[in-house]
Parts: sequence; structure tokens; C-alpha cells
Amino acid sequence: MEVSGVQTYQDHLRTGTQRLRAAGIDEASHEVRLMMMAASGLSRTGLISAEADIVPEDIAGRFDEMLRRRQERQPLQHILGTTEFYGLEFACDARALIPRPDSETVVEAALRLVPEDAAMMIADLGTGTGCLLAALLANRPQLRGVGVEASPQAASLARENLSRLGLEDRASVFEGSWADWQDWHAAGLIISNPPYIASAEIAVLAPEVRTHDPMSALDGGADGLEAYREIIGRARQYLKPGAWLVFEIGHDQKEAVSGLMESAEFAEIGASKDLGGNDRAVWG
Ligand code: GLN
Repeated sequence: MEVSGVQTYQDHLRTGTQRLRAAGIDEASHEVRLMMMAASGLSRTGLISAEADIVPEDIAGRFDEMLRRRQERQPLQHILGTTEFYGLEFACDARALIPRPDSETVVEAALRLVPEDAAMMIADLGTGTGCLLAALLANRPQLRGVGVEASPQAASLARENLSRLGLEDRASVFEGSWADWQDWHAAGLIISNPPYIASAEIAVLAPEVRTHDPMSALDGGADGLEAYREIIGRARQYLKPGAWLVFEIGHDQKEAVSGLMESAEFAEIGASKDLGGNDRAVWG
């Protein structure tokens, strides 16, 4: 790779794709293009028109370093430093779970439940990057919200994202556990994508997830349902009547989570699927 200074963008895209394919990455050519755009600052079309140009050495160096990290199976989103969720751009790194397209299902469910003009307070338990909270606030100017986050690292990332999206006037981050947070009675909607992978299943997750997403955002205890039990237990005690609770769930947890909500006397329990056809959101 030392000769990279005299290679064209096209050369780099080709050899980069080969390197990632060899590392077992399926979407290699797509990912390589995104990395080159980030390394060079070129837009998608800018890169297409520059393909026959020689790549300056500093860009080649940055691109090479990105490839090296991706070959180690670091997640693309960490390497790029941002990812898109519900049409918004979020800063994204090892401090919190990477926003997933599947979680957009949870945002849609919540938007359907909350009346267009409702001026309520919402809370996102385990906010991570802040993506669920920010997506809701960005789409409903009347809402105010709090992201509850026990990890100080994730809390700092959530604050960064809320301010980069211009939402800091309507949103705050409470740094502490779900047990520390005392404002249940004030919330009209609680939303959460809690850790829901059964501990024994962690080992079979993709290396990007297993070694680069925070374990506290994934591990849901022996049966994957611990966080749901805790949140539903607290909601039963402290949530005001008429408020909604909306969860992201694992694809095989619809019956279990709706069952827990039924036992806690939630009404109007419903569920929806993600774009892949898997059960992904449960509410009541
Ligand atoms: N959907 C995540 C995954 O892919 C899990 C997130 C969670 O546990 N909340 O692995």
C-alpha cells in the first residue's frame, strides 16, 4: 500500500474492495466507497467524477487506516463516525449501541400513539446515542424529553447528538439508572430499546456487534427479559394512567413481553414488525 500516492481513486476503490472481501465483508464495494468519501470529503458524485484522478497522499493514508480498521471487523459506523437514523445524522462510536434501521419501527409506533399536537414529556430509558428520543422530538415540535442513561460515556454521546440536532432546548439527559430516575409520573410516553439478548446468545452475534457495541446495551440476562421485567415493574408502580410504554423487542419476544405487560395490567397492547418482517415493537 506504500505506492498509494501514485494511484487513482479507481485503483484505491478496487484494491480496497479486494481487501474487505478477503476479510469476509459482503458489502465491500459499497463500504469502500463510503470510506473514500469520508477520507476525501468528496460527495458521491464528486467521487465518481474524480475516479481517474491521482489520490493525494494524506487522503490515501486516511483511507488505508479506515480499511485496516474495517479488516479487523470494527463496525463501519464507528470508522465513519456517523450514521443515519430516521433521516437524521448521529455521531456514533464505541460509547453507545449503533443505531439500527430496525429501531425505526419503534419510532413509527410511538409517533402513531402520540397525538400530533400533544405537548407531553417523553422519556427514553437507556437512550444510548439518543437516537429514539431525537427522532421523536425532531418529528414532534411540541414534545419535550429526557434520555435516561446509566453509562456516563453513552450519556455524553447522547448530549452531543441532541445538541448537534438542535434539540438541547427540549431534551435533557439524566445520567443514572432507571431506579435513580424519579420522574415517571411526569411522562406521557416511555420508550425504550433495552438490552434484550439472552446472555448465552451473545457469543453468536457478529464480531462487529459482540466486540464493539457496549455489552450493557445488549445483555438482557439469562432469558433476555430482565430489563423488560424491571421497566414494566416500575411502570406499574409509577407510570400515570393513560401514558404509553413502547418497547423495542427481539424478534422472538413478542409473546413474552406482551405477556409481562398484560400481567402488569397494561391495556391496548399491540405490536408491529420491522421491514424484515420480524416482530420489533410492543406497546401498551
Ligand atoms: N438489535 C440489537 C442487535 O442486533 C440488539 C439490541 C438490544 O439488545 N437492544 O444485536
